[in-house]
Amino acid sequence: MPELLLSTKNQHKILEIQEVFRSVISDSSILSLDSYSQNAPDIVESLDTIEGNAYLKSIEIFNFAQIPTLSDDSGLEIDALDGKPGVFSSRYSGENASDSSNRKRVLEELKNVPSEKRTARFRTILCYTDNLRTIFFEGVCEGTITNVEFGERGFGYDQIFIPSGSSKTFGQMDMLEKNEYSHRKKALSKFLEFYKTINEHHNG
Ligand code: IMP
Repeated sequence: MPELLLSTKNQHKILEIQEVFRSVISDSSILSLDSYSQNAPDIVESLDTIEGNAYLKSIEIFNFAQIPTLSDDSGLEIDALDGKPGVFSSRYSGENASDSSNRKRVLEELKNVPSEKRTARFRTILCYTDNLRTIFFEGVCEGTITNVEFGERGFGYDQIFIPSGSSKTFGQMDMLEKNEYSHRKKALSKFLEFYKTINEHHNG
């Protein structure tokens, strides 16, 4: 397979994506942005949709590196908060937000919401760009928001999100288990079908 550049500096996303690639394509050569270059531009997520920001991250890094590039933009949509934090997931509690302060804000806003109304979903949009095309792949994972945090693994909102079909939060799962349910894995499976097709001649 040719090289594929991941347009993200989020180490958790990189590990999850590498794990899925490893299980599907044994000879894949994935480059993380940090390992590729220290001079890559910082992408400002200036658009108000997950798709839009996935597009910016993919196209701007492809223009910089001229290597096929895959970006990931994701968000948590909570029904009782009318779809928030959504595209604002990483900075929900303000400019200096941390994963922990974001989770705190969500739990605070949901404190009077009964369990049956705590439905939510993670949505990932992957955007692939090479010199011929730009294509999007979506993955969604339905679930519910807990009342308190459970687990210490993962990142972002993992510790307060239970995927449908499980009794554990993502924060209580190792990466392999999270990948059985995850939005990112679902989007990646679609991407990998496409990626294998366009690179068939590399498979021998
Ligand atoms: P972005 O896709 O880098 O803009 O990240 C959006 C934010 O969504 C992250 O900072 C996390 O807070 C959250 N997020 C995205 N994917 C996940 C996930 O798989 N688990 C938990 N939180 C996530």
